[in-house]
Amino acid sequence: MPARILDGKSLAASWRERLHDARESLGDRPVNLVSLEVGENPAAKVYIRNQKRAAKACGIELVERLLPATTTEAELLEIIQGYNADPGVTGIIMQRPLPLAIDARRVQATISRTKDVEGMNPSNMGAILYCEPKLTPCTALAAVTLIQHSGIDMKGAETVVVGHSEIVGKPVAILLLHHLSTVTVCHIGTRNLREHTKRADILVVAVGKPHLVTGDMIKPGAVVIDIGINANPNGGGIVGDVHFDSAKEVAGFITPVPGGVGPLTVAMLMRNTLRAAGWEG
Ligand code: NAD
Repeated sequence: MPARILDGKSLAASWRERLHDARESLGDRPVNLVSLEVGENPAAKVYIRNQKRAAKACGIELVERLLPATTTEAELLEIIQGYNADPGVTGIIMQRPLPLAIDARRVQATISRTKDVEGMNPSNMGAILYCEPKLTPCTALAAVTLIQHSGIDMKGAETVVVGHSEIVGKPVAILLLHHLSTVTVCHIGTRNLREHTKRADILVVAVGKPHLVTGDMIKPGAVVIDIGINANPNGGGIVGDVHFDSAKEVAGFITPVPGGVGPLTVAMLMRNTLRAAGWEG
């Protein structure tokens, strides 16, 4: 039987409704998000458009600020410090990619931890080691929310995360540990990837290589979460890291790309925005 689709798009739509209510519950309190972009980038444009749509649906004000491509790191940090000090701004998003001359980690560390709606300030990153922080990294949270939606019991499940980046792989692994999953993290140094993926009840893939994981690498009935976003090597549109057509014949549940983790990540960004503005949900 083909896998059931974990529909991130419709899950994101129901989150937006919930978040709209949350926005109303905050009354007159400001909920203002600033999106910073250094130099125009076509990939970022798509993300910003999706973020703007989601913000509008939730009743959140999103202001876009496009800085010249020549902006220096010192100038960017000063701008961020200005927003940190501005009580009218409750959340800050730093769009990527950044010019090579700008240190992304320094930028992330400069965004106030209370306005860091992407959950990537070292303080928020560190807080996930203790348990649920106020602002959790959005993509990791989206992945775990989709796993929960499948109904699988994470406790004791063999979980394999492929990818160990700071933004995605490591935070996902830590969140899954909190659910008492038995977590294995695979990465570029892993010797036999298939040996690991084959025994996963839950398989999360965040690598950035189209079709790295094929159906024959998946345990029958597994929950497969594909975080990858890649240009389709066969032309046109985007594909994930998992070969969807072969994987769906084996998996129990699978996220599509597009329409899986991506839209829910944006919804989680809005959830963090409301939490940064004082929502306790
Ligand atoms: P990254 O380049 O920072 O990290 C890639 C990871 O993959 C590394 O840990 C590396 O060790 C591992 N890796 C590379 N080749 C491998 C191989 N052959 N076998 C096993 N592991 C291997 O990437 P990232 O920022 O974590 O992003 C990963 C993917 O997720 C990208 O496609 C990115 O576009 C996507 N992404 C999606 C969202 C979303 O909202 N859906 C958000 C962030 C990133």
